[in-house]
Amino acid sequence: MGTPVTTEPDYALPPGYTHIHSGKVRDLWTTPSGDLLVVATDRISAYDWVLPTLIPDKGRVLTALSLWWFERLADVVTNHVISTDVPESVRGRAMVCTRLQMFPLECVARGYLDGSGWQEYQDSGAVCGNDLPPGLLQGSRLPEPIFTPATKAAVGEHDINIDFLGAVQAVGAADAAALRDLTLRVYSAAADIAAQRGVLLADTKFEFGRDGAGTIVLADEVLTPDSSRYWPADGWQPGGPQPSFDKQYVRDWLTSPSSGWDRHSGQEPPPLPEDVVTRTRERYLDVFTRVTGRMLD
Ligand code: ATP
Ligand code: MG
Repeated sequence: MGTPVTTEPDYALPPGYTHIHSGKVRDLWTTPSGDLLVVATDRISAYDWVLPTLIPDKGRVLTALSLWWFERLADVVTNHVISTDVPESVRGRAMVCTRLQMFPLECVARGYLDGSGWQEYQDSGAVCGNDLPPGLLQGSRLPEPIFTPATKAAVGEHDINIDFLGAVQAVGAADAAALRDLTLRVYSAAADIAAQRGVLLADTKFEFGRDGAGTIVLADEVLTPDSSRYWPADGWQPGGPQPSFDKQYVRDWLTSPSSGWDRHSGQEPPPLPEDVVTRTRERYLDVFTRVTGRMLD
């Protein structure tokens, strides 16, 4: 099980901002007016570890891509963004958001079979209680998108896939149904938009919270390579791992003999070599450009 490297913010904020939490990638602060400042850092995680090497511009890519999607999806779901008017030290990689009461549920939608879904399907023919037809391959398109919730694990632990009943136990029947419907609606809208750009959105994870008025609001980051599997449509061929824009490149290096790291050793992963950093950075920028049709400024 990974324990993250201690991650102290590498920037300073003006007086009036209070640090409340650092996750693997994001730092959360309260703003002077009591809202939430979400800072996406350049940290990268893999195999439940925060790696000791930063990926330059990653925080800007995650922020710009999330903002692009929030805007695109604004007529499908309310989101937590208030503004991008943030202190100079975090410009471009932070947003001011409504502070929500988060649901303790990772709301995952899958349109294709891979990752833990593929594992589960091989064992049981179902994913999180969704029965699937026999004969599907790794990377197959599902007959229709499915909701495959997970419980959010403590830092350093894997998330645990649960079925719909598990989601009901976590948040209650009415909210579980609402979150499932929203997750599938937002996934389908996003998958349609991505498909127009030659990108398959294989799966994605959303987090929702409730605002003071009781509305369910889309929060966190959305539809980034950290929370989603994106595949180039023209390279899609079920029956094995797909070429992807996600962190697979880093994972492959970490588990290759050249890293010298044993992921089951309990030891912190080694620093990434410069060429791995460069290529990983390029992948993040590439997915941004493919999806949005513009360069990151
Ligand atoms: P990981 O994403 O790597 O599994 P993590 O979720 O703990 O770990 P981050 O994504 O870095 O780490 O942290 C973001 C945190 O902010 C999450 O705990 C998320 O639930 C929380 N969050 C996001 N948006 C809001 C919001 N509007 N109000 C309150 N909390 C939020
Ligand atoms: Mg997170």
